[in-house]
Amino acid sequence: SNIVAIVGRPNVGKSTLFNRFLERREAIVDSTAGVTRDRHYGKSDWNGVEFTVIDTGGYEVDTEDAFQGEIIKQVELAVDEATSIIFMLNVAEGLTDTDIEIHEMLRRANKPVYIVVNKADSAREELAATEFYQLGISKYYTMSSATGSGTGELLDDIVRDFPTTEYKDPFEGLPKITIAGRPNVGKSTLTNALLDKEQNIVTDVAGTTRDSIQTLYNKFGHEFVLVDTAGMRRKAKVKEDLEFYSVMRSVRSIEYSDIVIIMVDATLGWESQDMNIFGLAQKNRKGIVIVVNKWDLVEKETNTTRDFEEQIKAKIGQFTDIPILFISALTKQRILKTVEVAMEVYANRAKKIKTSKLNEIMLPVFEKTPPPALKGKYVKIKYCVQLPTPSPQFVFFCNLPQYVKEAYKRFTENQLRKHFGFTGVPIEVYFRQK
Ligand code: GDP
Repeated sequence: SNIVAIVGRPNVGKSTLFNRFLERREAIVDSTAGVTRDRHYGKSDWNGVEFTVIDTGGYEVDTEDAFQGEIIKQVELAVDEATSIIFMLNVAEGLTDTDIEIHEMLRRANKPVYIVVNKADSAREELAATEFYQLGISKYYTMSSATGSGTGELLDDIVRDFPTTEYKDPFEGLPKITIAGRPNVGKSTLTNALLDKEQNIVTDVAGTTRDSIQTLYNKFGHEFVLVDTAGMRRKAKVKEDLEFYSVMRSVRSIEYSDIVIIMVDATLGWESQDMNIFGLAQKNRKGIVIVVNKWDLVEKETNTTRDFEEQIKAKIGQFTDIPILFISALTKQRILKTVEVAMEVYANRAKKIKTSKLNEIMLPVFEKTPPPALKGKYVKIKYCVQLPTPSPQFVFFCNLPQYVKEAYKRFTENQLRKHFGFTGVPIEVYFRQK
């Protein structure tokens, strides 16, 4: 997939541009309410071409030499991960030394760089922007946050320059799994534990898209592919950096996968980074399995497992129909179970309910518990179908879809889970006019 990264000094307008890219698309496809969105990463499209946008400035940290460190981090991220780089400048502040430094770093990268001059709100500022030619560039784009003008030409050019290589998935049709989690949680240990010299075929495929490594495993009678991204392996200097890179790496792997195994450290509990990964997996509608690793280090009493499980469920919000396993990657405890559960979730995600069966079960449910009447009007649900999408999505046709509130959508989702079994899988429920 194509990735567009936005770099530049703080406050030049990176997030304005980022949000503009995202708004267009989220307005169309992301109609789910209550989903925590990761603000630093999102999908957009132009002329029918999809791409991912990274706002590299989203992780600005607040330490002594954060400023320089932040810039370097942004640029490294962009150079490692992006297909195209947008370098933003601000006409109000003019060309600064830092701008020149960033431009030097980007020049060495072998990627298309688009220079965007922000806050060019008037003819006078358009003229002032010509000072950026000092960078030795032949072209820049001007953008005005005030008028909203200027992104069309930029997007035309970015999309035109995307590499067009067709990627043929060598493991088409096999379950793809990402093991995600904070650094040192035990991801590598689990990956290695799954290796079995006798029955295992390992094939590292440096993806044509240059960023994904897919390894074919054959373990416990199941064939599956573990996905990892090649980028972001550089050694980070401080803790924030380590987590930052680790999240960005997960983002990419998650996109390529069907199932995300979120690994939590039993000695640390569910942390904010685990929440980020969970949010990403949910937003991307991937199957989810939570494994609590290093369970061998925990002193157990009667309710330890249940309490831990309750704690996680309390934190992850509404979507709690997710398997939680307690494992030790080190002693290989419940590794077989982990694979089996991941395969079950994979099957749940791919499940297609026959239209006749769906209506037969769901229409009586709606008869019995209809949506609450609003202003004396009654919602009548007449018919339902499952869409042919990779993850379960259902459309319910009715007379007054605008009267169906969030609570009833949740009720519908829970009924689908109860009757058809979608453990570990995010479900989308839409109400539409017949
Ligand atoms: P990664 O950064 O997520 O890949 O983590 P690693 O797999 O490198 O593991 C980090 C450290 O945790 C290593 O020292 C492992 O031996 C240790 N570790 C991993 N899994 C377990 C486990 O289940 N129990 C215990 N006690 N230690 C573990």
